[in-house]
Amino acid sequence: MRTAEIGQRFLDFFESKGHAVVPSASLLYNDPTLLFVNAGMVPFKHYLMGVEPSPWKRATSIQKCVRTLDIEEVGKTTRHGTFFQMLGNFSFGDYFKHEAITWAWELVTTPQDRGGFGFDPADIWVTVLGPGFHPDYPEGDIEARRTWLEVGVPADHIQGRSLKDNYWHMGVPGPGGPCSEIYIDRGPEYGVEGGPEADEDRYLEIWNLVFETEDLSAVRAKDDFDIASPLRSLNIDTGAGLERIALLLQGVGNMYETDQVYPVIAKAAEMSGKRYGADHDDDVRMRVVADHVRSSLMLMTDGVTPGNEARGYVLRRLLRRVVRAMRLLGVDRPVLPELLPISRDLMADTYPDVLTQWDRVIGAATAEEETFRRTLTSGTTMLDDAVTRTRAAGSSTLSGQKAFQLHDTYGFPIDLTLEMAAEQGLDVDRAGFDALMAEQKERAKADARAKKGLTTSTEAYTELRAKGETPFLGYTDLSVPTSV
Ligand code: ATP
Ligand code: MG
Ligand code: MG
Ligand code: MG
Repeated sequence: MRTAEIGQRFLDFFESKGHAVVPSASLLYNDPTLLFVNAGMVPFKHYLMGVEPSPWKRATSIQKCVRTLDIEEVGKTTRHGTFFQMLGNFSFGDYFKHEAITWAWELVTTPQDRGGFGFDPADIWVTVLGPGFHPDYPEGDIEARRTWLEVGVPADHIQGRSLKDNYWHMGVPGPGGPCSEIYIDRGPEYGVEGGPEADEDRYLEIWNLVFETEDLSAVRAKDDFDIASPLRSLNIDTGAGLERIALLLQGVGNMYETDQVYPVIAKAAEMSGKRYGADHDDDVRMRVVADHVRSSLMLMTDGVTPGNEARGYVLRRLLRRVVRAMRLLGVDRPVLPELLPISRDLMADTYPDVLTQWDRVIGAATAEEETFRRTLTSGTTMLDDAVTRTRAAGSSTLSGQKAFQLHDTYGFPIDLTLEMAAEQGLDVDRAGFDALMAEQKERAKADARAKKGLTTSTEAYTELRAKGETPFLGYTDLSVPTSV
């Protein structure tokens, strides 16, 4: 089943249960607590918190998400993308736990020829909030546990877990509540037995059902539940990973090999003349390329341009990591003009904006790649030289001074130095680098103050005038005055 079809099935299912189908919001949806939308509930947060009445009692969506937190996982785990799509169903004070669990079970277990996802119930595991973690649930979320038992999940496939996994909130201010997650056992070749508590690679988390009960606006310390206040209504907020369901239903090993992503891996393989599946490190690089090409495309389409601050910096980092990964695969020519169109064509059916925004997107990407290639060429020689010297001196840590010089002279961001040094088996004296950066900032501030003093302060003139008239002696006396 293609990714787009899986998404459609989800929407159709919840539409048949009375949900309004709501289109994805932009990745830049305005939420001051976030850089990018990172969950399906973000555009609904106002309604969930009761700040505004919701136009619907029930809604369903496929939301574009970017999680920069997961950047280091990409290509290494099988399940983390910087960009992914979250399927969700939401209840704004309407149905609650019982329906949320029953419907999720129905959709995942209904055979594919009857509109469901057709997972084998024997492979399904679920988690609920365990006992003793939250003051409101001294015995754990027994209501959720009971409902899972009712739909037919055997007791030994239900695990109670701590707040970290089974109490969801997205920071404050925002709604929160206990949650229950659905996992699919991929079999012994993916890891050890014992359910999600034992192994989250073998047991793949596909869906998180959040039972929102609390408003964490009032919370001062992040996990201080005692001072959270009850929400005005009990809400349902669920999030299922579209790519994760796709990887399972398509029988592939990871989310980068699904139909919406894999052709970029194939292109990277073709460009580099390397075979995907032949070498672990090269495979990780190709997966990073495929993931980052897609997230960059989606971010640029929604209006982000590469830069040095916040959103722009995330994008810059993603684009640069693609260029570097391709270099490590042996491709030295410009790569983005060849890779981005592949991703564009894969995403265009679902997100037509990738076509209408294309000229701007490819223009910005090409310019960024050119600049970065210049930076790389000059900086890499210096870095290699520094690595050789460091090793020769019997050390395995590149000095903060060197890292700073790379930054200052060649525009090498510290992330890049850290990554490139790590590839050669070296650490970087990060504290040393930070200290030099802080010093530089201090100097810049002092310079700015000095300049400001010279150009805009009138104090000096006021002081002079207070001394009375100053006779001009320059015609007769050329000595330097010792004071003014
Ligand atoms: P994990 O524990 O695997 O990191 P999570 O618990 O952080 O996932 P949630 O915040 O519960 O994820 O998000 C809801 C769903 O979104 C998850 O069940 C998963 O299917 C999907 N998801 C989360 N993060 C990613 C990601 N980086 N890439 C792809 N899908 C994701
Ligand atoms: Mg996570
Ligand atoms: Mg999880
Ligand atoms: Mg989760």
